[in-house]
Amino acid sequence: RPIPVTVLGLGAMGRALATALLDGGHPTTVWNRTPGRDTQLVDAGAKSAATADAAVASASLVVVCLLDHASVRAVVDPLAETLRGRTVVNLTSTTPNEARETAEWAHRHGIAYLDGGIMAVPEMIGQPEATILYSGDETAFTEHRPALDLFGSAEHLGADPGLGALYDFALLAAMYVMFAGVFHGTAMLRPAGVSATEFANRVVPWLTAMLQTVPAQAATVDSGDYSTEVQDLDFTKAALDAIVRASSEAGAELDVIAPIQSLVYRQVMAGHGAEAFQRMVETLAPAPARV
Ligand code: NDP
Repeated sequence: RPIPVTVLGLGAMGRALATALLDGGHPTTVWNRTPGRDTQLVDAGAKSAATADAAVASASLVVVCLLDHASVRAVVDPLAETLRGRTVVNLTSTTPNEARETAEWAHRHGIAYLDGGIMAVPEMIGQPEATILYSGDETAFTEHRPALDLFGSAEHLGADPGLGALYDFALLAAMYVMFAGVFHGTAMLRPAGVSATEFANRVVPWLTAMLQTVPAQAATVDSGDYSTEVQDLDFTKAALDAIVRASSEAGAELDVIAPIQSLVYRQVMAGHGAEAFQRMVETLAPAPARV
């Protein structure tokens, strides 16, 4: 039988999570700081609680989805005693250290704690494309899997409660840098009268093909062996120099491309010109000592 679940925070994401729980047949209690955001949920069968404390008193699983770390602590800290013996799943975007801090607080109060990073927009919640990266208490993850599966594809990455958030932000960082690269290409073509849509038609298949090389590149990074016969860093430096000159000729600002050029320069200046392009990962973060 589906267990009673409480959702704290009825922003766009909290409402989507509560809807998924109701659709899955869970008795669902909802609370939001500003009243009135639960009308549709109540119509769909949710129970509205007047206070956060009353909301969590009836649930063994409490899903928290608020703005940020500060709002989470402002809401849950006063509930510590009521939450004892229950499970808190925090789906608010916080940094890894903030997640660890909340996990420590939960541990001190006898609360099982799972932290999750939502890799989806609210409209995707409930579909397999919505991945949620969890970390923290694995027993709680296993126990509450049936409810968590209602949000999308649930994955538990490890016991460190900060790991989900770390992956979340690493994925977002990769996404933003890739999108910025697309914007740079768009800016280069714009003065020539090429629309963003025309460029999109070419850049999507190009990047899709290039992304297929990522696993082989990752294997190079993991091996630590950057010897290469093709496209070494001297070659890459010449390529980046030409791309930067072409960008200037086109009148595009260099905010996006210049840091990439300088990263390549650093490799060559440190004597790695004959090594593979992927060597720049060593500059961004040295490999941890092998055990
Ligand atoms: P919204 O801005 O729609 O909602 C924010 C929620 O936080 C509201 O319920 C708001 O309550 C509440 N809140 C803010 N400050 C406080 C506070 N001090 N005390 C109590 N409640 C507070 O955000 P979303 O629902 O979109 O996002 C929620 C979380 O989910 C964020 O951490 C976000 O990063 C994450 N997320 C969102 C995604 C998205 O696409 N929307 C994607 C992935 C993650 P009130 O109504 O009273 O203002």
